[in-house]
Amino acid sequence: MLPDTSTWLRGIPKAELHIHLEGSIKPETLVKLSQRHDQIPLTLEQAQKLYIYNDFQEFLEAFSLVNSRLQTPEDFALITYEMIRSLASQGCVHAEVNFSWGILLRRKPHLQMPTVMQAIETARIHAEQEFGTTVLWIVDLVRTHSPELNQNVLQLAITLKGQFPSIVGVGIGGDEAAGPAPLFRELYAEAKDSGLRLVAHAGEAVGPESIWAALDIGTERIGHGLSAQCDRDLMRVLAERKIPIEINVTSNLKTGNCPALEDHPIRQYFDAGLVVIINSDDPPMFKTSLLQEYELVQNHFSFSEQEMKELAANSVIASFMPFERKNKLLEMIRKY
Ligand SMILES: [Zn+2]
Repeated sequence: MLPDTSTWLRGIPKAELHIHLEGSIKPETLVKLSQRHDQIPLTLEQAQKLYIYNDFQEFLEAFSLVNSRLQTPEDFALITYEMIRSLASQGCVHAEVNFSWGILLRRKPHLQMPTVMQAIETARIHAEQEFGTTVLWIVDLVRTHSPELNQNVLQLAITLKGQFPSIVGVGIGGDEAAGPAPLFRELYAEAKDSGLRLVAHAGEAVGPESIWAALDIGTERIGHGLSAQCDRDLMRVLAERKIPIEINVTSNLKTGNCPALEDHPIRQYFDAGLVVIINSDDPPMFKTSLLQEYELVQNHFSFSEQEMKELAANSVIASFMPFERKNKLLEMIRKY
């Protein structure tokens, strides 16, 4: 008997290259956090209700309520372990995970980044051994944070990278209009000099100029890249330079940056030769998962099985994994 689509898609080895640690907390995990910190802990039903919202404002409020339960290094260890367990159950063999240190340092000054990283790394290694899914960290700078805070975060990342080689890159996220990429030129140059890889959220809510600007400061992968569709020259450059585009379909719909599923450019990008990758961004917050994104894309945009394998292969090629592991995984995908 042939496996159903979901089982078949689960079986393809794939990498998740655009997910946020703080956005990966499932209601079940929130209940565990609540048991640690709330006088009257949330029930699963109450936790699930928190994830239902009608607009982006309510989403932001929910995000902040969930994040308010992250208070100790052990809490970050818990969400790391649970995130890896969930990814592994979807056939995800590797993930590159955004983590906004600046937000943590600003909102939770009692926490020390080296202590948090130590806890997270212990959980990561434990989960990797148990589930086989590897994880690398991308330190997400916030576009609207002060230059001093972003500089501090970068210095911390450079320092801690020596102790934790799984810190592999830096990115920028947040309000693109208020914090344009050129502001990060020097930080990106410094990050690159110290061996960190460069990614950026760009062209999510702002026009193609934001993607050009991100490329201009050395970005190796573009997160979202929705507005590239408005600029033919940019599309050509992205294809020629094989710049991977980390697509997050459900996220784009839920944030309203893409008005409707049929308007999403993923098929157009793929057909134009762009290196498209399927990702999930903040999966439980957007009621999705990496596997559900693969299902959505295949079902709605008529990707053949061969094309789905190509998308999975893109995720491996565009990752920052060692060359030998990439080759092994690509061989597995080819034979699948
Ligand atoms: Zn994101």
